[in-house]
Parts: sequence; C-alpha cells; structure tokens
Amino acid sequence: MTSSLPVTDALTDAEIRGIRADFPILQTEVNGHPLVYLDSGATAQRPLAVLDVEREFLTTLNSAVHRGAHTLAAEATEVFEDARSTLAGFIGADDDELVWTSNATEAINLVAYAFSNASAGRGGAAAERFRLGEGDEIVTTEMEHHANLIPWQELAARTGATLRVIPLDDDGALRLDEAAHLITERTKIVAITHVSNVLGVINPVEQVIARAHEVGALVLLDACQSAPHLPIDVKQLEVDFAVLSGHKMLGPTGIGALYGRRELLEAMPPFLTGGSMITTVTTTEAEYLPPPQRFEAGTQRVSQAVALAAAIRYLDGVGMPRIAAHEAHLGARLVDGLTAIDGVRVLGASIELSRVGLASFDIPGIHSHDVGQFLDDRGIAVRVGHHCAQPLHRRLGVTASTRASTYLYSTDDEIDAFLDGVAATIDFFGVRS
Ligand code: PLP
Repeated sequence: MTSSLPVTDALTDAEIRGIRADFPILQTEVNGHPLVYLDSGATAQRPLAVLDVEREFLTTLNSAVHRGAHTLAAEATEVFEDARSTLAGFIGADDDELVWTSNATEAINLVAYAFSNASAGRGGAAAERFRLGEGDEIVTTEMEHHANLIPWQELAARTGATLRVIPLDDDGALRLDEAAHLITERTKIVAITHVSNVLGVINPVEQVIARAHEVGALVLLDACQSAPHLPIDVKQLEVDFAVLSGHKMLGPTGIGALYGRRELLEAMPPFLTGGSMITTVTTTEAEYLPPPQRFEAGTQRVSQAVALAAAIRYLDGVGMPRIAAHEAHLGARLVDGLTAIDGVRVLGASIELSRVGLASFDIPGIHSHDVGQFLDDRGIAVRVGHHCAQPLHRRLGVTASTRASTYLYSTDDEIDAFLDGVAATIDFFGVRS
C-alpha cells in the first residue's frame, strides 16, 4: 500500500449499526451514559464472532500444539496453523514468514535480541548481516512508540552500535530530508512506525524503505496502528520485518506477530529458547527447527491465535479498504472538529498526510487527566498521558495529551458527543483563550 488512502465508499450508517450490534460492550453504559468508546488505538473491542470462536476452541479443542499424538492435539495444531495462514494472507506474507509472539513489543524485542545474539557470535556465518558493533548504526524516529525505541536503545548499548533518530519538524512530521542523511552505508537496520499512535498520520514510509535498501539496511515496520485500519501488504511495501498486536485488530490480548522475510528468518538466531523450537538436544547443545517454529519457544497461545484469525475474517468480511475510508472520514471529523474549538491545540493538525481515525490534543491550562476524567463522566473513553511516546510529546512542547481513536464501529454521533464533551470541558475549567 501507499501512504494515500484507497479510494472507496465509506461504510453506510446501516452497515455501522449492523457492525455495532456484533459488539456487546458497545451496548453498555458507563457512568449512566451510553459508552462512547474512543480508545481503540490502545485496544479494540471484540465482536461476538471472535469471543465465540475462542470459547468454542476452549470448550471443544483445547490442547497444546505441535506435541502429542492424540486427536485434540492434532486438531488444535491444524486450527493453529490455519490461523497463521489467515493472518499471513491478511498482510500479504507467506505462512512460514509469520511468527506468533505475545504482542508487538515482544516481536520487536525478538528482532533486537536476535541481532544481539548474532553480534555475540550466534548463528554462524549465515547471521553475519545481523551482526552489530562499533561503527554500525541503527536508525529510528522521534515519533516512535517506546516499544519501537527502547529495544533499539538497548541493542545499541549491548553491541556498541550507535542509535540515530530521524527528527520531527515543528508540526510533528518526519524530517524526510534528514532521513536521507541519517540512513547511510553504516546503517544496519531502520525501525519506523507506519502510522503514528499519537498523530494518526500515515507516514510516507516508502521513501524511507527505499533509502534503507539503497544502502543495504534492513527495515522493520511497526504496523501496530496501520494493520488494523488499512489494507497492508508487506511484500508490496518491501519491508524486511513488520510487527503487529492482535488486541488492536479485534483480537485477544496475548497474541501478536512478527513478519520476517523467509531468507532473513532462516538466517537469524533465535531470541527465546526452550521447548518446541528444537530438533535434537543434548546436555551441551541443541539444533533448532526452521522458522517460524525456531522463534516460537514454549507452549503457544493457541486460543488467542484462533480468535485472532476470526477477527481477521471479520475485518475481511467488512473489507479493509472500506474500513480505511470510514476511518479517514472519522479522522477528518475529529481533527476539524477539535481544531474549531477555541483553546484546543491538535498535535500534528497541519501535517499534510492521510490519516487514520485518531487525533491527540492539548488544552493549555487543563491537564489531560482532567480532560479524560471529565469525558469519562459522560461515558466517553479516551486515552490520556504520553501514549508511550515521550520524545514526540517533548518535541511538540507538551508533556501529555488526550487521544481519541476510532475503529470500524465508531460513528459520527460519537465524534460529535466527544467534541461537545471537549467544548464543555473548556467551559467548565474556564480556559478559553
Ligand atoms: N507500536 C505502536 C505504534 C503502538 O501503538 C503500540 C501500542 O499502543 C505498540 C507498538 C505496542 O503494542 P503492544 O503493547 O500491544 O505490544
């Protein structure tokens, strides 16, 4: 996919009503008001189809996978591998290029620790390209979620490599001019987010990916905020690694995934070691299975994988291009509506890039926790704080912000209720400029 959104029809009101009926939690009340859930960027709600599949698996098939000769184990293994295939297909990967992890954070750490294990000599000659030392560089951006920053800080500290950071301009956009200078022959890996979890903008990652490949660097794409909301194809994007979290795309917590190009996964030493990832073990050494099992040590999260596959089928049933169109509409309504409220500063509002349905804002004079509390009293759920992106907030001159984030089940009426709530917050605290 590209950084511009697909041109397609957004969801109709009737379709959204039908979708909402599938999500029991959206029928509930909070603090005496119908729940307005605008925190899907943190974690999405789950439709009955997902809840039912997980329960069905646990009540009829529950068993450890890839072990045991009994019928349940064989059937559980089959649905587990089918789930892998479903998620792989959803992002344009081959089945054996998809590694299950607990979440995106673990997936990024998997890659960072595989690099440091290679740097310590593990993986033999095949792992040469993952080796880092003094003089080598890792490039990330000032906009990253801490999950895509701290693992690279730690990798640099362990190996002696240098971490370079693509800065942001005063609006919060990536300085692509700087990216071209920062990504050089010394760069071994570039780790960049596809969609900012604070600004909601879809980064023009194609340019960064092209520059990285020009100098022979690998690219890890943080797709946490893009895969749930946009059609994405890892092969078309030509990324080497991509990560996502199941709970942000209608699936359960405790499951995420790492995509890695087959050739890279085959050459990369493992991060976690133990049961289920080996062929032969002696008391002194072990031989490892090929990927993806080489990276899946220990008992796997089977019911979560099966439920995530149900989530993917649900998203596919609605259609990702239409979800993206719906959220582009909601994102524009959010940004325009917030910008029109006197006293509100929307972070990154002037960045001229396509957006998902997510916007963060600051109201000078009111702490974001107070904004969140005021909205919560009206049944409106938003996220407050630094959203695990302290460097971005620091760059934009704020310590915290309030974030509203939508999904396929969000409505215009909910955005309007939220905007009314923000205006009422300002009136209540008396900070209009
Ligand atoms: N990257 C981005 C852009 C995110 O928004 C998040 C979660 O908010 C993560 C990474 C980390 O995801 P998880 O906590 O599920 O590992």
